[in-house]
Amino acid sequence: MTTPVPFIDLAAQRERIREKLESSIASVIESGRYILGPEVKELEERLRDFGKAPHALACANGTDALVLPLMAWGLKPGDAVFVPSFTFASTAEVVPWLGATPVFIDVKPDTYCMDPESLSAAIEQVKADGKLNPRVVIAVDLFGQPANYPQISGIARKHGLKLIADSAQGFGCTLNGNHPIHWADVTTISFYPAKPLGGYGDGGALLCKDEELLKTIRCLATHGQSQTTYDYIRIGMNSRLDTIQAAVLLAKMDVFEDEIRTRNEAAARYADGFGDLVSPHHVIDGGVSVWAQYTIEVDNRDEFRKKLIDEGVPTAVYYPKPLHVQKPYTGFGRAPTGLHVTEAACERVVSLPMDGYLYGQRQDRVIAAVRKALGG
Ligand SMILES: *Cc1c(COP(=O)(O)O)cnc(C)c1O
Repeated sequence: MTTPVPFIDLAAQRERIREKLESSIASVIESGRYILGPEVKELEERLRDFGKAPHALACANGTDALVLPLMAWGLKPGDAVFVPSFTFASTAEVVPWLGATPVFIDVKPDTYCMDPESLSAAIEQVKADGKLNPRVVIAVDLFGQPANYPQISGIARKHGLKLIADSAQGFGCTLNGNHPIHWADVTTISFYPAKPLGGYGDGGALLCKDEELLKTIRCLATHGQSQTTYDYIRIGMNSRLDTIQAAVLLAKMDVFEDEIRTRNEAAARYADGFGDLVSPHHVIDGGVSVWAQYTIEVDNRDEFRKKLIDEGVPTAVYYPKPLHVQKPYTGFGRAPTGLHVTEAACERVVSLPMDGYLYGQRQDRVIAAVRKALGG
């Protein structure tokens, strides 16, 4: 059998930025400032500028980035947070951490992002029931593309709810030229290695508009400490980004914009390569995706995946099961119109290799294998 193509080619990127990576990691080690060294602040400034946000804060991972604003807003038992079910566990799990209740919303069949109508219906229903207090919407930039923020933010505002853009997979995406923070109160980012802006370990960040909120979140992320050390004004936690990870991410930021461009070129080649046989991954009108995943739908997924493996092409399934049917989440709320699109998508989706270095023979092999498997 031929050597398989990598699902994500992290080595190509490593080669490209090796010198900067090695010198900046070495300089952190020399400096001894392993926690909150100057690279962390520099990264926060770079993220803020890149994401066109007033403020940025680096933290330990993308999950903490979600829980921190919820803590700052005082989420508590009896509060409802509206989240898609077609997402990674983090989006929902942070809600019951605070005793609040996730209410699962369906997605649009073409973009896999939150369906504004499903959201609207769920908020109305929670209000009519009168048992839970609607507080926050968390939209997800699934697979790297922006959710429908103009509509979602309109609904959130109408009902007086906060809006988080879970951009763990989507940092860098835009809609009509605007980053999600244009509409959201907070945007969250993950630096998990496989994300479009991945580090060499765990890491996360958030962007926000309100300076007071940023101060509260910074306090919560450092054990609830006030400006004075060992003076605690809140129950907080420990959520910091290591200086070494900040140094790694600064090197990666140098090529990030260019990688978003090359990911989009690769996505266009996929669409050209097999768009006659299967619907290519659709992006919302006016949207630019960072292509965390390139996902298609097939009828017989197991067989399709096996045929690709035989050609040396790995695939992945994000996500095989919606959150609302998983045991720990079955007791929470659901949109009154059901989650049929989510359930159907989970049966059919399959993601193909994607990164900023996908071109030439490697991508041709994927396209040829997809065509062969689909009988084209
Ligand atoms: C990866 C991911 C997270 C969590 O990020 P971690 O850094 O792994 O904690 C949250 N939400 C979504 C949608 C993700 O894909």
